[in-house]
Amino acid sequence: MTKGEQIYEGKAKKVFATDDPELLIVSYKDDATAFNGLKRGSVAGKGVINNKMSNALMRMLETKGVPTHFVRELGDRDTLVRRVQIVPLEVIVRNIAAGSFSKRYGVEEGTVFPEPTIEISYKNDALGDPLLNEYHALAMGLASPDEVETIKRLSFRINEELKAFWSSCGVTLVDFKLEFGRLSDGTIVLADEISPDTCRLWDSETGKKLDKDRFRRDLGGVEEAYKEIMARMEERMGARE
Ligand code: 5GP
Repeated sequence: MTKGEQIYEGKAKKVFATDDPELLIVSYKDDATAFNGLKRGSVAGKGVINNKMSNALMRMLETKGVPTHFVRELGDRDTLVRRVQIVPLEVIVRNIAAGSFSKRYGVEEGTVFPEPTIEISYKNDALGDPLLNEYHALAMGLASPDEVETIKRLSFRINEELKAFWSSCGVTLVDFKLEFGRLSDGTIVLADEISPDTCRLWDSETGKKLDKDRFRRDLGGVEEAYKEIMARMEERMGARE
């Protein structure tokens, strides 16, 4: 499968056409941005880690019956995915209060919720990805009622699978962001990525942050944290084989 024309460049990934109209190649960069692009930097090796981690987690989710866009890893940074039309919603699942939730509602970071919670934002950089509710999403025609239901159901399922997996690695899954897409026949599948860029992952014993918050909050040791979380995952996956 060869890379054709570049059809999109995002903050952390590029997307290329292939000779099959139903397939695309995603290529992960080391670029890091935060606060809607206001903070910019680079994390050496991040693209490789995010590519491999996202693929491993999507493969695992597929075995549990969660449909994803993943097809095949092509290289350290490149992955073949099914072409989707992205649903312009960012779905955030939270198990523990942190980040914008703590700030918005005044709930101390680290407060464990009795049940996982979910929120959706309108995926729109120009507007800063504002929060919206399901009625807004329907009013704006961003998704159908059935699609919203499917997205919520899959998101909570994915949370249960990821929580259990990370727990077995000695890591607490605090929260994460998902994006979904429509295949050409309308089927909703998980798209985008699942990585330390899109998840909060805390060492279960020490609480050490092993994710992009190290970059966002200038905590230092960003590259080391990405390497450490990857090593934890590989150790666990190796043990499963
Ligand atoms: P928060 O809303 O607290 O900033 O983020 C909640 C979770 O979603 C975090 O795990 C964060 O990494 C992820 N997240 C939310 N919005 C974005 C985004 O625009 N880009 C990325 N990479 N992750 C996001």
